Amino acid sequence: MREVTVAASAGFCFGVDRAVKMVYNELEKNSKVATLGPIIHNQDVVDDMKSRGARVIESVDELAPDEIVVIRSHGVGRDVYEQIEAKGNRMIDATCPFVSKIHRIVAEKTKEGYLVLIAGDVNHPEIQGIIGHCDQNYYVFKDNFELKHLFEKNDNFLGKKLAFVAQTTYNIVVWEECLKVIPKNDPDIVIFDTICNATDTRQSDAAELAKSSDIMIVVGGRHSSNTVKLYEVCSRYCKTYHIENSDELSSLKLPCAGRIGITAGASTPAYIIKEVQTTMTENVNLTANSDEEIDFAQALDESFKKYIQERKSRVSLSV
Ligand code: SF4
Repeated sequence: MREVTVAASAGFCFGVDRAVKMVYNELEKNSKVATLGPIIHNQDVVDDMKSRGARVIESVDELAPDEIVVIRSHGVGRDVYEQIEAKGNRMIDATCPFVSKIHRIVAEKTKEGYLVLIAGDVNHPEIQGIIGHCDQNYYVFKDNFELKHLFEKNDNFLGKKLAFVAQTTYNIVVWEECLKVIPKNDPDIVIFDTICNATDTRQSDAAELAKSSDIMIVVGGRHSSNTVKLYEVCSRYCKTYHIENSDELSSLKLPCAGRIGITAGASTPAYIIKEVQTTMTENVNLTANSDEEIDFAQALDESFKKYIQERKSRVSLSV
């Protein structure tokens, strides 16, 4: 029997949901809203906000005098807060509380004389924000190989106190590998496991689903780090496709698979997942053997009803 399953933790996480709601709430009261960078890695949501009056700006310099600036869930460095304060614009800080916690950790440890080592993608806005709380006292490494190289190059950081943190969306498997590289029982080394639970749960759910699926569809922005990591996690277990929306399904030439799993990144709204499901149902029906009387549409619908029930309180966009 074939089945289609949507991972329970697919889609918006707490921090993204919170940030998106903060922007929409403000747009209801005030049309002069500017987000510092796109609020999430999802063009459909960003376009919808633009249609309601929000502007996306890349730097504080672009702010108009009467605009309200929103800091997105990725957070920003201390210098950006200072620039906004100097400009005098009202600010809404939608930095995810889990990211703010990392800011507090690195600022505190920097003050205590620690060198901060950050696991993550140096080009990602979250990492740029974290760096901005370290007073130039940091290294960023992308994986266990880079970390090993850092230790060798810096003579094991002899005599230095080291504080480790990770990007909230860091791959948990790679983090485990990094922990193996860090010397054990050294009182001068402190490790903060800052990978967000939402990421952990989403990746674990996706891995479990991928293990029992023939095909996984990962839905989310190409620039969404957590979506790309979901793709990597699922690819270990079965053929996996990364798409941004339902339009891309037609070019995939999906084989007729027995078990199809769907998951989605933290920036993917429920209505996009729904569209993918609907389109995929049509595709699957086109390729299925005619002698197999399998109601994929019903299976998808059942799966989505379950998903909607679980996520009902968290979906912020109507479909
Ligand atoms: S993934 Fe976690 S840390 Fe990142 S925005 Fe979502 S809840 Fe916050």
